[in-house]
Amino acid sequence: MQKEKKCKVRLLALCLAAMLAFSACTSSAGETPAGEVSTSGAASEETAAGEAETAAEGQEVSIKDGTYIGEAEGYHGTITVNAVVEGGAITDIEIEHTETTGIGGVGLEVAKERVLEAQTVNIDNVSGATISTAGFKAALRDILEQAEADPAIFEAETPAPTEKAAQELTVDVVVAGSGVAGEAAALQALEEGAEVLLLEKCSIIGGTTNASGGAIMATMSPLNEEAGDESVEIADWWYERGEEKVNYDQLLFVTQQSGENVKWLMDMGWEAVLGTGGDSVKEWSHRPDDGTGNRLANGGYTVVQTMNSKFTELGGVTMTDTPVTELIINEDGEVTGVIAESKDTVYTITARGGVVLATGGFDNSEEMLHEYAPYGEGTRPAGANAGDTGDAITLALSAGAQIVGPGYTMPSWNSIDGVSNYGADVASLRSAGRAIELNGNMERFVDETVTAEKEKAAMAAEEGHVFYVLIDGNQDPEMLEALDAAVEGGVVFKGESLADIAEQLGTNAENLEATVAHWNEMAENGVDEDFGNPNIQPLQEGTYYMCRIFEGNTGTYGGPQINLDSEVLRPDGTSIPGLYAAGECANGEFYYRDYICGGSSLSMGLAFGRTAGRNAAARAAE
Ligand SMILES: Cc1cc2nc3c(=O)[nH]c(=O)nc-3n(C[C@H](O)[C@H](O)[C@H](O)COP(=O)(O)OP(=O)(O)OC[C@H]3O[C@@H](n4cnc5c(N)ncnc54)[C@H](O)[C@@H]3O)c2cc1C
Repeated sequence: MQKEKKCKVRLLALCLAAMLAFSACTSSAGETPAGEVSTSGAASEETAAGEAETAAEGQEVSIKDGTYIGEAEGYHGTITVNAVVEGGAITDIEIEHTETTGIGGVGLEVAKERVLEAQTVNIDNVSGATISTAGFKAALRDILEQAEADPAIFEAETPAPTEKAAQELTVDVVVAGSGVAGEAAALQALEEGAEVLLLEKCSIIGGTTNASGGAIMATMSPLNEEAGDESVEIADWWYERGEEKVNYDQLLFVTQQSGENVKWLMDMGWEAVLGTGGDSVKEWSHRPDDGTGNRLANGGYTVVQTMNSKFTELGGVTMTDTPVTELIINEDGEVTGVIAESKDTVYTITARGGVVLATGGFDNSEEMLHEYAPYGEGTRPAGANAGDTGDAITLALSAGAQIVGPGYTMPSWNSIDGVSNYGADVASLRSAGRAIELNGNMERFVDETVTAEKEKAAMAAEEGHVFYVLIDGNQDPEMLEALDAAVEGGVVFKGESLADIAEQLGTNAENLEATVAHWNEMAENGVDEDFGNPNIQPLQEGTYYMCRIFEGNTGTYGGPQINLDSEVLRPDGTSIPGLYAAGECANGEFYYRDYICGGSSLSMGLAFGRTAGRNAAARAAE
């Protein structure tokens, strides 16, 4: 396969080409209509890989021509890279992988383009898909070694521009964030006839929505009707689940249009199947279809892609790697646009109708967790997008917004390594009374069947939100398989006695034995005198598994306060002209401490996102 011809090439400076492309771009500052805005990576598209110019102008470099195969681990398995080296440059890359289609899969494509363009493996990480990018880079490094590539070139840092270009744009509506809420806002505004610019901070679109199950809670959808489910009003049920501490008007608003919003997606080709989700008592959860009438796991990206494809088809422009960094506010307090920054350019964008904040939660900001969700402080993000750092809060505050934060995060049980699935598996045993939750001292601290605030408060009290779950070996074979793999990975402990387990953990065997003996005694009597677990079952002697769990969060509650028009409110209840917010970044009144029901967040994002887009477009038309 491998040609032994060694060739020498002169590589020119790619960054210079990129800078030239950008200066061409900026020469028309203020005149470029949104429809002509290039996405962040497009500036040097015309530079063919073979002629790639790098910072090492004039340098003689060598790499052996040939076709090479490299492999490395990604997020969901092995990434195999097949690369062609010709004429001293990497000219073609093919990637085989099992990464999630809309996240790692898209990320790998972005990374591939970056490598082909820059002719170095040291490209910027694809934010939103960093683990997949790291695997890709490792496989490529393997290839570079095989090809005896000169590291000074093929491992060179991609140079940052010394000075960013400036560009002015004017559109009707700017949307910050491309998750469910941002996509819905952008598409709706476009459908109303507005000129729309969708700005995304990360390298790939979709945010946390991408990683979600994609379940949308709805009644009155075509699927509900087909199934003969005549449920109309579920707001009351939902309100009760929210301990009557949530905003009833918002629930009513979201639930009443939920079926219509699912229909909107289905009319664009989104396919779903019905199921129960979270605590729903009927099949109200609309889950992405895998194409065979079954549920597609982690199918949230289908929701994003359905809307973004339509948006692009209708002429909407999406710019990735371009976060909104500031709001432009006039002397009357009206939001008239944004400042957004890509790697190379600072954009000053006027938005005639307004700006929609749809920047997701603040899972990745320790300070904001401390400030707005103290019960979630110390939890680790469990699936939330890296770009979700609470920007809507900072931006809205700059315009004088009222921030509401009920204090909690969306809870989840997670494996300590964040990769194995044992956390979710074991969590399912709680309600059956077959799992004992223990603190580091091997003592129980909670009724294992409670799911809401009691458990959250108890978990928050454990150092680092880490605790232990003990189960016996009499379990479903699939679960045992997952647990055994985690044992091998050193994150779950398996033993033939409690003393054995305690020794492996380096913890107090006496406490553990006493706790389990007491548990079994209470289970025989059918009464948990300590915490009131109604389903308490004895653990069988023999093999035990001790799982280290941490309380993760799959999202946050809190952000700028909004009304039913998705307008951001000031502390005095008046709305800030030109500023809208939707989705997780504005869910402070929609949720209280519990995640009311599966699919509720996407349902809410669709409702408030579409509303924001519609109203911002109407304002532009005034
Ligand atoms: C594992 C997991 C499974 C889940 N499953 C479900 C489910 O099945 N159903 C359900 O309803 N909910 C689910 N959720 C919750 C749900 O996914 C989120 O609450 C929801 O997707 C949030 O959507 P959003 O549009 O508000 O934010 P996101 O989807 O997070 O999008 C926000 C976007 O804004 C971008 N951004 C941030 N700052 C800026 C800035 N300054 N400028 C520009 N862009 C910016 C971010 O990079 C991101 O792309 C799940 C969550 C997780 C973690």
